[in-house]
Amino acid sequence: AKRLGGACYCFYAAGMDGDTREQLDLLRDLRHAVERNQLELYFQPKIDARSGEVTAAEALLRWHHPTRGMVSPVIFIPIAERFGFMRELGNWVIDAACRQAQVWRESGLRMRVAINLSAQQMRQADIVDRIQKALEASRMHPTLLTCEITESVVMENTQAIQDTFRRLGELGVHLSIDDFGTGYSSLSYLRQLPAQELKVDRAFVTDLVASADARAVVDAVIRLAHALGLRVVAEGVETQGQQQVLVAMGCDELQGYLFARPMSAQAILLWAMDDKN
Ligand code: C2E
Ligand code: CA
Ligand code: CA
Ligand code: CA
Repeated sequence: AKRLGGACYCFYAAGMDGDTREQLDLLRDLRHAVERNQLELYFQPKIDARSGEVTAAEALLRWHHPTRGMVSPVIFIPIAERFGFMRELGNWVIDAACRQAQVWRESGLRMRVAINLSAQQMRQADIVDRIQKALEASRMHPTLLTCEITESVVMENTQAIQDTFRRLGELGVHLSIDDFGTGYSSLSYLRQLPAQELKVDRAFVTDLVASADARAVVDAVIRLAHALGLRVVAEGVETQGQQQVLVAMGCDELQGYLFARPMSAQAILLWAMDDKN
């Protein structure tokens, strides 16, 4: 390890745990991936629970690694977050998603686009400017973009995150509280957020048919969200049984393998066009 200005930089130092070494390898590859076009956005539709129409497409990042194959965002997003690479990765996602939305619009498809914003991105001082620039470059109305932010990040409730929330609201993009139900939000705080949407975490959806407790939680969440003027999206819907329970509870939108897996931009365009006829 070498010391610089009191800070300790321990790159590949003896005794470094294997996990960190592995992560630094992936980080190096991830930097190259951005330059070498190995990243791609997949999109998964959100479906109106009553009409069955596609309302939006959520962008989900995919990494085609030259030797490891497809690497899951569950692996590489935390690495980017930990080692200060999320800003670059996130900016790539913002630009790519807005460009894609423009292509769809020009093909006559009316579909909102949703992106995920990480904790680091919510703390990034210029995040709102970056989003605004991307919207302008693709001549996209701000209300056609949804930013999904996990409940755990929302609950951090620091000044930086509050400011970003407020400025995103002022910009006019829609805000969605992701993975809801896992973070024990205080109700009074929820009420202050400029959000339009709440996504029920997949864990509750999975247990919906077998567990009366899960049904009680989801039912209460939907009532609460509606009382606050929020639309409710259920994620991870895999069975018709789950769909039936959610529709009966008044859930607004559904997303999950039952309807479509995340797919390439081209594939979802064909899928959504086909759906219209
Ligand atoms: P998320 O935002 O909660 O996204 C939903 C995840 O559930 C996605 O996994 C999706 O493919 C998966 N999924 C959707 N429907 C079903 C279903 O019916 N059953 C099951 N078992 N899974 C389903 P994915 O694409 O691997 O992404 C995982 C997580 O990585 C995301 O969770 C999100 O937190 C993060 N992520 C992905 N792309 C981005 C990105 O561009 N930026 C940021 N900040 N995070 C991202
Ligand atoms: Ca999400
Ligand atoms: Ca989610
Ligand atoms: Ca989730």
